[in-house]
Amino acid sequence: MSHVMNTYARLPIAFARGEGAWLWDTHGKRYLDALAGVAVCGLGHAHPRLTTVLQKQVATLIHTSNIYEITLQERLADRLAAISGMESLFFCNSGCEANEAAIKLARLYGHKQGIEAPAIIVMEKAFHGRTIATLTATGSRKAQAGFEPLLAGFVRVPFDDLEAVRRVAANNRNVVAVLVELIQGEGGVNVCHPDYLTGLRAICDENRWLLMLDEVQSGTGRTGTWFAFEHSRVKPDVVTLAKGLGNGVPIGTCMAAGPAATLFKPGSHGSTFGGNPLACAAGLETLSIIEDDGLMRNAVVIGDFIRDQLRARLTDVAGVKDVRGVGLMIGIELAHPCGELVSRALEAGLLINVTADTVVRLLPPLIYTREQAQLLVDTLVPLIRDFLAQSQTVVGSAQPAVQPV
Ligand SMILES: *Cc1c(COP(=O)(O)O)cnc(C)c1O
Repeated sequence: MSHVMNTYARLPIAFARGEGAWLWDTHGKRYLDALAGVAVCGLGHAHPRLTTVLQKQVATLIHTSNIYEITLQERLADRLAAISGMESLFFCNSGCEANEAAIKLARLYGHKQGIEAPAIIVMEKAFHGRTIATLTATGSRKAQAGFEPLLAGFVRVPFDDLEAVRRVAANNRNVVAVLVELIQGEGGVNVCHPDYLTGLRAICDENRWLLMLDEVQSGTGRTGTWFAFEHSRVKPDVVTLAKGLGNGVPIGTCMAAGPAATLFKPGSHGSTFGGNPLACAAGLETLSIIEDDGLMRNAVVIGDFIRDQLRARLTDVAGVKDVRGVGLMIGIELAHPCGELVSRALEAGLLINVTADTVVRLLPPLIYTREQAQLLVDTLVPLIRDFLAQSQTVVGSAQPAVQPV
């Protein structure tokens, strides 16, 4: 029996090595990676430039603690501030921790204005993490069940619905911030309308709320810009990042501008590992490679290519409800729960994910070539067609539900 706690419904396969967009399992079988470790390995696996930098950093200095100055942390903060327009950053090790920092900032911001019980507006189907605060912010009853009591101080509204946010503004004096993913990842690759962010910014300005964006999945180049918010001209107050920032070396950050940028004081918050030399070296080199190799442009071109191909070959198929996404965040919504497609793809040598029960989610590395994108489509389309043809005939066939990551 495994001594690892049983928190994941793992597939019965382990990988021995990777190279670019390819992974090899322990039996030597090769797989095309269309998941990138859940939007983490944007540069693919064993990227030569990153490998060299990490090897050198490991041989020089891994960790010293935040009791001392950390030059690489300062440099990464400078770099991220420059590309995001944010002013100050807190470094941690994961997405949920980055969101915890954002939640703490919002509460401090509220208390500073004399609000005793500050509240944050969060969205239905949102995913912000698995710690108690971020689990409370997450819009999934299934993920929350059994962990009550959850935290006070969150108000939930439907995603992409400005009227719902306005109604809260009119009725709730305790709200201090909105926390939102512009493209809901775990929730099913749900893309908001183009004017949603502009509308949220206006409501936040009118009410002096912080606009806080969870870009843990959508950030670091995945949607074709450094951050998804760049697709509009809106400037947020707080942005969180993690997944793709270290290409697999754990790192997260909470970035803030304006009044949120100066709320934390010595002792307000901390993390033992946060922003250590190894993680920051990984972050700096990952950003440099994304820029030098034109990977954001590639995310747009390859993402559009994949969506175009999928639409051309799937829209006439009964049971395909939608093909959507931005850049290399791609969702194919089916009419039926389709968790079974993951193991069928595995058999065919392709790594994909299913989220929100009915959405095939593709998060390929940003380095994908046109040939790899074509192979992904050519492998996936027949799998979806066959699966749907069978589920139309086998009425009421129960498909296993898939847990969010
Ligand atoms: C994955 C994810 C998180 C949680 O990140 P962890 O590193 O697993 O804590 C939070 N928000 C979003 C949008 C995510 O996709």
